[in-house]
Amino acid sequence: MVSFPPTPSNPAQDGSPLIKLDSNENPFGPSPLALDAIRKAASRAHEYPDDNCSELREKLAELQCVKLEHVSVTAGSTGMLSLLCQTLLAPGLNAVTSACSFIVYAMLVRASGARLIETPLREDGFDLDAILQAINPETRLVFLANPNNPTGTILEAREVEKFLPAVPDHVVVVIDEAYYEFAEHFAARLRFEYSRSLQYVRQGAPVVVLRTFSKVHGLAGLRIGYGLGPAELLGYCARMANTYSVPSVAQGAALAALDDQSHIEKTVLNNAEQAEVLAGGLEKLGYRVVPTAANFVYFDVGEDASILARRLRAEGVSVRALNGWGAPQCIRASIGTPEHNQMFLDAVRRVSSLGRKVSV
Ligand code: PMP
Repeated sequence: MVSFPPTPSNPAQDGSPLIKLDSNENPFGPSPLALDAIRKAASRAHEYPDDNCSELREKLAELQCVKLEHVSVTAGSTGMLSLLCQTLLAPGLNAVTSACSFIVYAMLVRASGARLIETPLREDGFDLDAILQAINPETRLVFLANPNNPTGTILEAREVEKFLPAVPDHVVVVIDEAYYEFAEHFAARLRFEYSRSLQYVRQGAPVVVLRTFSKVHGLAGLRIGYGLGPAELLGYCARMANTYSVPSVAQGAALAALDDQSHIEKTVLNNAEQAEVLAGGLEKLGYRVVPTAANFVYFDVGEDASILARRLRAEGVSVRALNGWGAPQCIRASIGTPEHNQMFLDAVRRVSSLGRKVSV
């Protein structure tokens, strides 16, 4: 039997660099405007950052048409998630989300001593009726990943609109829109409404919307994101935050990235075009691909995903096998540049059992 041992430090057999399609990052890197701002901010790295992130919060409040006190900037949007879990959860309490969703929900809920209740997937996405049924008197948080990571499925605005009034008053709903710009673009193409989440924030509803600079803005390594929600709740969360947790370099880069419309457009357009290329290529190889609303594709490989991922790594492509997500036959691959996507498809064709059978 042929084995495909992983060699993490230099995995590609020909020694070329690893094509990294495992973490839903921006394939074009940071915005050039953000890179300039990083250089500028780096020269003041001896100074502590603005702990209130005032300039960035003001800019976000203006952009999103919400009041300043509804905006909280954190170390990645997972920073906001962590503060919410520390603030609202404790042993004896619980949070509800879907199975096969963002893995950090489970980690942070567990760290708080609370319990995570996961409802089964429906058509690879969130089942909002099941979530409502799972809520009990001890529930404090509901996490909706929209789009969902890793399946890439989207909830339409009208579905969330119907869901929210049915959620009891003692529960805060987190609407995690890490992939907002990509989803908005896909929804516009398909002519449906993606999200009304900011309306709920403006109304002061018990909802926290999460956004991040890690995806379309290409700043994942700087750890900066934000939450939009009720001022009182954000105030309680802020008390749990570490002092100076958002570096000045990250704040400067985020401010500049918001101005770089052309980088955002380039990223979103490439993503939408290449989503079709990847889905088409994988389907041609015989795989079931779930239509994506994000910057990655989720597909069923019909065999142990970790084995296929290891073979791909040996070919120089890193993807995410979803064995640990309860989807042991599924893989998530980021949507990369056209060149990287082609190399990925070629590698899949070479190593997959299906690809070998279909031999296109
Ligand atoms: N939410 C979801 C659904 C995600 O997929 C991710 C990133 N993988 C995040 C939040 C976290 O983003 P950040 O880098 O801002 O912590």
